[in-house]
Amino acid sequence: MNENPCTQLRHDFPIFEVSLDDQPLCYLDSAATTQKPHQVIQAVKEFYQSQNANVHRGLHTLSEQATIAYEAVRGKIAQFLNVQSREIVWTSGATASLNLIAYGLSERLNEGDVILLSPLEHHANIIPWQLAAQRTGARIELLPVDTQGILQLKQAKALIASLKPKVLSVCHASNALGNINDVAALIGSCKKLDTITVIDGAQSLLHLRPDLQQLDCDFYVFSAHKALGPTGLGGLYGRYELLNALPVYQSGGEMIDTVSFTGTTFRPAPEKFEPGTPNIAGVIGFGAALEYLMALEHDSLFQHEQALYRTLVEQLSDIDGIRIWGDTTHNVGTISFSYKKEHHYDLATLLNTHGIAVRSGHHCTQPLMAHLGIEGTIRVSLAFYNNHQDICRFIAALKDTISLLE
Ligand code: PLP
Repeated sequence: MNENPCTQLRHDFPIFEVSLDDQPLCYLDSAATTQKPHQVIQAVKEFYQSQNANVHRGLHTLSEQATIAYEAVRGKIAQFLNVQSREIVWTSGATASLNLIAYGLSERLNEGDVILLSPLEHHANIIPWQLAAQRTGARIELLPVDTQGILQLKQAKALIASLKPKVLSVCHASNALGNINDVAALIGSCKKLDTITVIDGAQSLLHLRPDLQQLDCDFYVFSAHKALGPTGLGGLYGRYELLNALPVYQSGGEMIDTVSFTGTTFRPAPEKFEPGTPNIAGVIGFGAALEYLMALEHDSLFQHEQALYRTLVEQLSDIDGIRIWGDTTHNVGTISFSYKKEHHYDLATLLNTHGIAVRSGHHCTQPLMAHLGIEGTIRVSLAFYNNHQDICRFIAALKDTISLLE
């Protein structure tokens, strides 16, 4: 049997050499944050060790080198997403990106306008729009989702046509359930209406590697740390004319042309959205993550994740009393489940004693949990560095935990 290429890749992630309470780590929480290959860790270390300088403001060699390296990563993520460098803004994460967009688009919203979201959204794609609605008198409406947590595409398209929303903001993949939404179809419906489309790509950048020219959305947001990069970094893509027309969100140094007490002028996008010293080491580390990913064949990583996911679904489904939520046919490899009336917190705590790292709770999707009529779930989320042994260990630990609870 040929060795799976992903088996080798696991060795690139030093965390898997760590033992917790004398047990090897079984990391099944990649939707929260992914592990980092040594290439990323090394790039961050090297930056601080031998390249550290501030960007954009020094004439000295080190600063020039840091600026070139930093800006090169903007080019890399643009290449990864198939857009232009000037359409990428660095932020501190998907949350900051969504706040920037919702604030900026508020200028275009009026009393009674519709902001269309879905019940599947992470709080980061709800609250900034609630604040935008409060500021402008616009109202939030929701796309239809069934009792299992699956977006109803046909009705969703009909709703878009009837509501004619000013903005549609939806996740490409749900962080709580892993469902992949057919955002291309939703965007297609919006095109006919001049609705501005915002895609929360926090859970899709790594697993789906989207081509944004093909997707044709107006904005797309991402988190670096959910795609092998450092924490505290994310970004957004914005179609240039729209992006450049957004008002300044936060202000300070770096983003200006001239400052005087009679008036200040701003630089064009993306600079006007990047005040202050950026997360330079984070960007350099993310550059290493992107290089790492671009050197791999995405399809084989995806197939590996999907094979693990299908095994997980089959084995979980065989356990009496397990209820799996969400769409298991179009999924990035995240599974959310409940066991009878047991509290997710107790299950996750017991699983942790076996060295199994899973998430429990509402996953920052309280409206979705309310829609499903539950308080929370256990969430197992995979990435390509997981293997069959992880699944076996998890299932064995879960069975053991269940036997303790019975
Ligand atoms: N959107 C989704 C779908 C997410 O899963 C997350 C994080 O879990 C966010 C937004 C927020 O990302 P960050 O915490 O990196 O800002």
